[in-house]
Amino acid sequence: MPEYNVGILGATGAVGQKFIRLLQDHPWFKISALGASSRSAGKPYAEAANWIESVEMPASVADIVVLECDPGHFSDIDFVFSGLDSSVAGDVELAFAKAGIPVISNAKNFRTDPTVPLLIPEVNPDHIKLIDTQTFTSDRSGWIVTNPNCVAVPLTTSLKPLHDHYGVKSAIITSMQAISGAGYPGVPSLDIMGNVIPHISGEESKIVAEPLKMLGTLSDGKLTHASFPVQATATRVPVINGHLLSVTVELKKKPASEEDVIERYKSWESPIKDLVLPSAPDYPIYYHDNPFYPQPRLHADSEDGMRTSVGKMRKSNVLDLSYIAMAHNTVRGAAGGAILNAELLVRKEYL
Ligand code: NAP
Repeated sequence: MPEYNVGILGATGAVGQKFIRLLQDHPWFKISALGASSRSAGKPYAEAANWIESVEMPASVADIVVLECDPGHFSDIDFVFSGLDSSVAGDVELAFAKAGIPVISNAKNFRTDPTVPLLIPEVNPDHIKLIDTQTFTSDRSGWIVTNPNCVAVPLTTSLKPLHDHYGVKSAIITSMQAISGAGYPGVPSLDIMGNVIPHISGEESKIVAEPLKMLGTLSDGKLTHASFPVQATATRVPVINGHLLSVTVELKKKPASEEDVIERYKSWESPIKDLVLPSAPDYPIYYHDNPFYPQPRLHADSEDGMRTSVGKMRKSNVLDLSYIAMAHNTVRGAAGGAILNAELLVRKEYL
């Protein structure tokens, strides 16, 4: 495989640090430039970043001087990953795309753009063709792909086998979200220790809208969103990593039994399995028979944090089925998901 020189925008933040950790031994992608705000620019990375990962900062990045997020400084880069704060991601990512530098983003700013793929490789790999409809540059050298909100990842991944086989008619979700999802320093300790906060600003609308885009169908370059009502309640809980969701669904076709549904999960095959992407987990969806599983502390790191764990499938007394889904929010729900997106885009020759 050729080696790609990659840049990371927002490299000093929680997601940016996860990118650095996950990319340090990547077989295809080499970190060649790091960008952050003017507070960090001009400093060596080791000085600019308050390193919060539980492994040592890779020596290969410690001396890299952090750049302002201006595409003019990133001219020898094949593409950038973005872990930028959403208050700036819109303008900065647009500038990079217009300068002919592809952007693979975690931020929310372009997720609803009808020409921008909102991508989970195991759910909607065909949506990458939306790139062909983007007009950021006349020669289509600059484009944007986004990954979803960190709750939308386990939600949409776990809904996918149900939607394909039975058709989802409606869904009700309560998320119990880890504090690492709020970046660093995030939620004050006195607010979250021994407590549950029943609201996360701006989160519920993303949980409602994003699965419908990803479960939509693409035809002649036009995406038709799935259409079913979703009710979401987002809460913050004192967990470090791993967003856990309680999901209740109504289905168009009624399953014969819970066992039938569980078997759908166990026999489900990833549509990208044959591409052998370096970051792809063997089990993008793993069903746990133990009703006490999945748990964030035990399972967020399964398969290097790239798995969606599902369990506790049961008949619902109100709709049809209830279950639990969980995934690592800063890996599968952020940096790891973006890296897998880039790997798919390499294999499909967009990079
Ligand atoms: P964070 O820890 O607050 O990091 C934000 C990053 O943006 C830092 O590198 C910061 O640089 C940079 N930045 C801020 N203002 C800037 C400016 N004016 N110009 C250039 N860079 C600027 O946030 P995070 O948790 O890593 O989240 C980053 C993005 O990923 C957000 O859009 C978030 O919504 C999304 N996301 C997060 C998660 C998660 O679980 N945390 C999951 C999915 C998606 P300085 O250090 O120099 O200020």
